[in-house]
Amino acid sequence: VTPVLAVRGLKRHFDGAGGTVRAVDGVSLTILPGEVVGLVGESGSGKSTVGRCVVRLDRPTDGSVEINGTDVTTLAPRALRPLRKDFHLVFQDPSSSLDPRMTIRQIIAEPLRLHGTADRAEAARRVDELLAQVGLRPELADRNPHELSGGQRQRVSIARALSVDPALLVADEPTSALDVSVQASVLNLLADLQRERGFGCLFITHDLAAVEYLADRIAVMYLGRIVEQAPAAELFAAPKHPYTQALLSAAPVPDPAEQRGRSRIVLGGDLPSPLDPPPGCHFHTRCPLATDRCRTESPELRTLPGAAGPDSAPRQVACHLVADDGTVPDAAEASA
Ligand code: SF4
Ligand code: MG
Repeated sequence: VTPVLAVRGLKRHFDGAGGTVRAVDGVSLTILPGEVVGLVGESGSGKSTVGRCVVRLDRPTDGSVEINGTDVTTLAPRALRPLRKDFHLVFQDPSSSLDPRMTIRQIIAEPLRLHGTADRAEAARRVDELLAQVGLRPELADRNPHELSGGQRQRVSIARALSVDPALLVADEPTSALDVSVQASVLNLLADLQRERGFGCLFITHDLAAVEYLADRIAVMYLGRIVEQAPAAELFAAPKHPYTQALLSAAPVPDPAEQRGRSRIVLGGDLPSPLDPPPGCHFHTRCPLATDRCRTESPELRTLPGAAGPDSAPRQVACHLVADDGTVPDAAEASA
């Protein structure tokens, strides 16, 4: 099968007065049709920049992005246009991405109009259908975005993104700007629509509970690189990379009796700047297990041959201390 998304060796460097910011520094990632891949990391890890490069809001410094088998990295805008309907972005803050002068109906119908997939009557019918699918009352169609709540606006941007049946939806923190009380319902909506329509999804978030709920596979980013990639259930059951272990150990668990047998790993220091990141393993300044080798030699993201999960999707990890069979030293013990 052709992946809906294949990112290879993606780099996005920014040259500034202080030097080169390596926001994304060699990311490879594949999403198969109908698959949801969660891209997780702290703010500043580069995950949003990956998303922006995928939907061509940003240009990679190096590497390539293929959508449905076509390299879109170097396509001219004119050649890109017919492919545009294949990938859409839902932003963190819907108020900044919805044109305030347009009605909800016009906003949802715009992609249909741009891609010429529907005549006027057909488009009107599709808009009504989409409003119902995202749980919005039909009378909202003639309002403007500012007359809607944040949750309703995000439902509009989801309807707009899905209006042309894209093969890939990139969702960048789609619920984090919303009221906590409506976050779950928007997340449920995304999950339902994904199941019904089967689009591939790159789900970018720092919210571990959301990603556990939604994603089939998870890639964890740290300072511009993926440090671990695994099927969601396996990552949560047995994180391998010391950074993933720390991230999961700090996540609140609804039922404390269910602490998953892990003790909390407290990382020293803040996320270093992507301007001039630490040499060797980017994580060595905060890793409780770091050795001399970690300070000089950068670990490759490698597939663990002995640790393929039940669904046989490979586990990948970038750490010198994780053995090929997936055995990993206990970071909690080392940090205690
Ligand atoms: Fe820690 Fe070294 Fe592994 Fe990096 S390579 S995560 S510093 S043990
Ligand atoms: Mg972000």
